[in-house]
Amino acid sequence: MTREFRIYNTLTNRIEELEPRKPGHLTFYSCGPTVYSYAHIGNFRSFLTADLILRTAQAIGWEVTYATNVTDVGHLTEDDLTDPSGEDRMVKALQSKEGEAFVNVWDLARYYTQTLIKDWHRLNLREPSVRPRATEHMREQIAAVQKLVENGHAYETEKGVYFSVTSFPDYGKLSGNTLDNELEQTVRDVVVDTDKKDPRDFALWKKDDKHLMQWFSPWGWGFPGWHIECSVMAMSYLGEEIDLHAGGEDLIFPHHECEIAQSESLTGKPFSRIWAHTRFLQVEGEKMSKSTGNFFTVRDLSASEAEGGKGIDPLAVRMTLLSGHYRKPFNFTMKTLRGNVKHCDRLQEVIKLVGDPSENHGSYETEAGVILGGMYQRALEAMLDDLNTPTALASLFGGTKLILGKGDALDEPQKADVRRWLADMNALLGVVYHDEQTPAEANEEDPLAAKVDPLIEERRAARADGNWARADEIRDELAALGVDIMDSAEGTTWKRKSSV
Ligand code: AMP
Ligand code: ZN
Repeated sequence: MTREFRIYNTLTNRIEELEPRKPGHLTFYSCGPTVYSYAHIGNFRSFLTADLILRTAQAIGWEVTYATNVTDVGHLTEDDLTDPSGEDRMVKALQSKEGEAFVNVWDLARYYTQTLIKDWHRLNLREPSVRPRATEHMREQIAAVQKLVENGHAYETEKGVYFSVTSFPDYGKLSGNTLDNELEQTVRDVVVDTDKKDPRDFALWKKDDKHLMQWFSPWGWGFPGWHIECSVMAMSYLGEEIDLHAGGEDLIFPHHECEIAQSESLTGKPFSRIWAHTRFLQVEGEKMSKSTGNFFTVRDLSASEAEGGKGIDPLAVRMTLLSGHYRKPFNFTMKTLRGNVKHCDRLQEVIKLVGDPSENHGSYETEAGVILGGMYQRALEAMLDDLNTPTALASLFGGTKLILGKGDALDEPQKADVRRWLADMNALLGVVYHDEQTPAEANEEDPLAAKVDPLIEERRAARADGNWARADEIRDELAALGVDIMDSAEGTTWKRKSSV
């Protein structure tokens, strides 16, 4: 049976059917964080929306190619909007008290990328197909900027290279900040450079030979503008036209508007069909802020009390985030969190009653199984209807009540149906138990290592066998992954190729 997956499209302001360009194969990109600090639960609310899109698409049998990036190049503190003289976020973090732990800004980025991935797994977010890093795609970013200059969409000044917004008449189609909308002019005054042709033009490259992170380009030393990285990484991994692009509501303008302008000017094709945005999360009714003490990271909530955390089950944190619809503002409260800890405990009781839900499943044929199968279908229908998580969770809680009500009266075939239901519900919502990560996915330290290490081992074996042709082939494969290898008496080590 083909199922319709409907989702709200910010581009058209209505709920639409998400129809992959290639039937049954969804391609989507979700903007990841700047790794200058631990990601907070607000960031994770947005990443969770992407995870739910992935799970729902997989639940109806689609193949999914899902890319989500790591922004490991610093950008100006006010998101490139009003603070042209501001420091960039990563440099500022390095100079802060927490920054004392790091020897340089690269070290800081590496650390916070690792903690991001650990918290990602704690919250039971599935691994993306690819997690590209901005610093590892510098050549492509420079090439894209060069192409925009060549085709007349960008120009160089003494301070940088800018995208000319008037060269793209569709500018504003996502956010409504169109070129003839005078009210928004000041908002679009992105970088102050008196040589800019139009104050609304935004930076593609900033010249700066003093910056802590700099690359060499046709315009001298400097660093890329924020928006270009996502255009380039999305197109590198997903193609010039993608099915869906997601992020938090703050990204609609300027980030996503600028991504559309750059990408469509590069290819002449529509970039993403659907744009999905998650509304912001607040804590106890207020904007999260470190000074008011209502700022939470996943580790603040879930690390043990001995480690300075609150010792809360991360699945209860996930359940709390799911309890609000992604398109409504969400108020995260300790009261709701405590309620969800109880729901998680009840799910554990169910598991205790019926055994390990990852094995020996029934096929929803017993009396209880028929009811539970119907509840799963209702949860799936809810998720297919613009990710209606509150309704899907209500099905989960209803089923839990039913099962615990029957308790020891459940016979073995019924228990097998309950195990099936738990596994199906978990695949969809991810709140019943932690998904098994494959060994490559569990390589939290470095996803690239997960690809490189087995190849290095295979090359060692090929060399030991005298199979030089295969060994050379592997060296080429590693080069294609952007890796340099060094052979020595102790064995082979590798490093990322240095950028430009
Ligand atoms: P940033 O590191 O600021 O670029 O943020 C990474 C992602 O988290 C972006 O998609 C933001 O829109 C999103 N985000 C940041 N703060 C919140 C919040 N309070 N609620 C929901 N999403 C957020
Ligand atoms: Zn982005």
